[in-house]
Amino acid sequence: MDNCIFCKIIKGEIPSAKVYEDDLCYAFKDINPQAPVHVLVVPKKHAANVLELSDEDKMLLGHIQLVIGRLAEELGVSKTGFRVMTNCGKDACQSVAHLHYHLLGGVQMTEKMV
Ligand code: 5GP
Ligand code: ZN
Repeated sequence: MDNCIFCKIIKGEIPSAKVYEDDLCYAFKDINPQAPVHVLVVPKKHAANVLELSDEDKMLLGHIQLVIGRLAEELGVSKTGFRVMTNCGKDACQSVAHLHYHLLGGVQMTEKMV
């Protein structure tokens, strides 16, 4: 989608620190990391957030979950633990309108989510 920063990253029009890529998704380091491990996993197909998904996307979403698990192992946080989250809309402070999953780890987090 035009003017979507993550679509541009996926296409290589904006540089990123790539962590993983396959036919369906792309993973890269967050430019402003909130934890020692902070990776964004995004579908290559543009959708603003989970509200724009449909039944057709079930396979894609399952695939992304599996990729996140594998990346957690590769990045060394699978044993210590990690958090996976996606922000959706204003109250969640979603700042980039292309579905993305934050993979956060490498630090002891608090029990609170907000
Ligand atoms: P949100 O707030 O929408 O859940 O998360 C967007 C994330 O994208 C933020 O953590 C922000 O640091 C990251 N981000 C925004 N622009 C860029 C960019 O150009 N490159 C990278 N690597 N991350 C970005
Ligand atoms: Zn996009």
